Amino acid sequence: MNKMKMDCPICQEQNCMEYITRSEEIPYFGEILETILLCSSCGYRHSDVICLDQKEPVKYTITIDSNKLDARVVKSQSATLSIPELGLKVEPGPKSIGYVSNVEGVLERFENAVKSALKMFEEDQAQENAKMILKEIEKIRLGDRKVYLILEDPLGHSVINHHTVAKRRLKSEEIEQLKTGYTTLSPEEIDY
Ligand SMILES: [Zn+2]
Repeated sequence: MNKMKMDCPICQEQNCMEYITRSEEIPYFGEILETILLCSSCGYRHSDVICLDQKEPVKYTITIDSNKLDARVVKSQSATLSIPELGLKVEPGPKSIGYVSNVEGVLERFENAVKSALKMFEEDQAQENAKMILKEIEKIRLGDRKVYLILEDPLGHSVINHHTVAKRRLKSEEIEQLKTGYTTLSPEEIDY
């Protein structure tokens, strides 16, 4: 792991931004480089992951339950990550980030997104829906529910590393339907 201090381009303060780079070898995938920017002055935070090898457009599908919480997940900025049965999806966009985590961490991120939606949307329907999703996420953790987790990346810089994961190449018509994060501007990072 490498740490560096630099000036923050957002708040212009000097020497307040920590620039962290970390590399990791993911089995059967290759070497990845994770970069994290953290400003102690204004709180700006960004992270991304790149894969150092050339990769093919890929789709991973895995059934997740309490036994797979520690399966490694690398999600790059160009990836779409979804749990269709719960209507949860993160697509590439200006605010999307890349990260290295595991299934537990992915569930936690979805959970946090749903919690902030709970605060933002006051309509009864939205509230009910969000609370139902939070319950379902808890069930997955406890082993009372299984759902599909799908990771699609047209640049192939993402991976779910587990012996039960199904992996295949994305078809070109599937790639056309995915947001890349580079050509379109999506207003929200999380749609559900
Ligand atoms: Zn700053």
